[in-house]
Amino acid sequence: MATLISGLLAGAGPALADDDDDLPDWLWQQQTEHPANLVTVPDITGRPRTIGFVDIDGYAVTEGDIVIGSPTDATSGKIRLPGVFPGAERLAVPPARIAVPPPEAPAATSTRQAAGTTPKVTAPPAGSAASPARPARLAACPGGPGGTATSQDDTLWPGGKVPYVLAPDLTPAAREAVTLAMQDFHRHTCVRFVPRTDEAGYLTIVSGTGCYSYVGRLGTGSQELSLGKGCERKGTAIHELLHALGFYHEHSRSDRDSAVTVHLENVMKGYETQFHKLSPEQNHLYGLLDYDSVMLYGQTFFSANGRDTLLPLVPVPIGQRQGFSRGDLAAVRTLYRCPPADPPPAPAPAPGGGGTSVPS
Ligand SMILES: [Zn+2]
Repeated sequence: MATLISGLLAGAGPALADDDDDLPDWLWQQQTEHPANLVTVPDITGRPRTIGFVDIDGYAVTEGDIVIGSPTDATSGKIRLPGVFPGAERLAVPPARIAVPPPEAPAATSTRQAAGTTPKVTAPPAGSAASPARPARLAACPGGPGGTATSQDDTLWPGGKVPYVLAPDLTPAAREAVTLAMQDFHRHTCVRFVPRTDEAGYLTIVSGTGCYSYVGRLGTGSQELSLGKGCERKGTAIHELLHALGFYHEHSRSDRDSAVTVHLENVMKGYETQFHKLSPEQNHLYGLLDYDSVMLYGQTFFSANGRDTLLPLVPVPIGQRQGFSRGDLAAVRTLYRCPPADPPPAPAPAPGGGGTSVPS
């Protein structure tokens, strides 16, 4: 396997978030405090792919928060990114339907989690300051829009059961965030996070440097998911847990060009690969790209100059980290084969210009 290390690149100075309300503070911090590494290796289709990563807490992290292994392994081409790179440990047990406990009553009206987390919108929708009109093509998508999963079913959590351990030094804020996130999964999907007893493979939730997670289940042993400083909020915990369940970033979808435009000229030098588009063989797509997805980047993520790096083709906000969109839930329920008895997502739209995030 030919492996080319392009060396260390000094972290270019990004346009730092200009106030505390901007979501990706932690993202920029993670990236700029660590030099970027580039490695070119054959992906699962056999084609060479250059991937950028930084060393955070002894992990090789790409696209802000996706762990692909140790830096040593990553630089030698052993990248753990199921559906994109071979190498993730394969499971013998396929996912199966699970018995679903009686559903809890959906919460009534609470919607957005917290103030100060509204994504920046540079092109407000015409005609409505409160709730942007959704593109007709998305509204017409059967089964709800959105959802990008990896293409290796053997990295799913068997039966939708995810054993977890909370690290002893997990901060109270992170503990609360992940608890709320898990409650939302339980309320709206058949996935079940359960305290680990003797299961071989499990999540360990830690307060590391920023936020990160592997994509999918690695196999046996502990795999860490970090909710460090700046990440201690429910929506971010949902984002990381979705990675652990097997979901990738929404903007990486193989069909993303029909919904967003990537402006590489505005991206921090050395971080262009964060906007790599998957090939159709590398992802399972559910519906169309979901502008409301908690897995979608914001408009200026990784921007070197404050200008847009990811522009939706219609003027809607993107990059929310409040909670599930309907599309996120539809994708989880499909990927984990939730039985129809599971409660449907609550129908009420979220007020305040955030699209269709699901109340919790
Ligand atoms: Zn992510």
